[in-house]
Amino acid sequence: MNLALIAHDRKKDAMVALAREFAAGLSRCTLMATGTTGGRLRDEAGLAVECLLSGPLGGDLQIGARLAVGAVDAVVFLRDPMTPQPHEPDINALVRACDVHDVPCATNLAGARLLLSGLLNPAA
Ligand code: PGA
Repeated sequence: MNLALIAHDRKKDAMVALAREFAAGLSRCTLMATGTTGGRLRDEAGLAVECLLSGPLGGDLQIGARLAVGAVDAVVFLRDPMTPQPHEPDINALVRACDVHDVPCATNLAGARLLLSGLLNPAA
């Protein structure tokens, strides 16, 4: 299972907490993340994560490109709906790519819990 994890700045604490909550399941996955998010997941949740570019520098696009060729099975993207992002077009491109390729994408914490519960613990 290849999972992509992204969190905007005000959502990074929530992402770390989520990763700790699902650490056992996540540790069995191949994880990739945008740069800053990935660094925090490695340092604070102890997960092995491939860190791509930071989101504003193209990290969302890198994940979108992988997703388009079938190399991403699900995306947890904790977006901050209250703060304008300089890379809004990249964010929209990634979410669109998820819809084009029918890849599950959770953009808030409640959805992320459902997604991870279903993916990581399908028998539950
Ligand atoms: P970051 O990128 O993990 O490098 O902060 C996330 C984003 O802002 O899209």
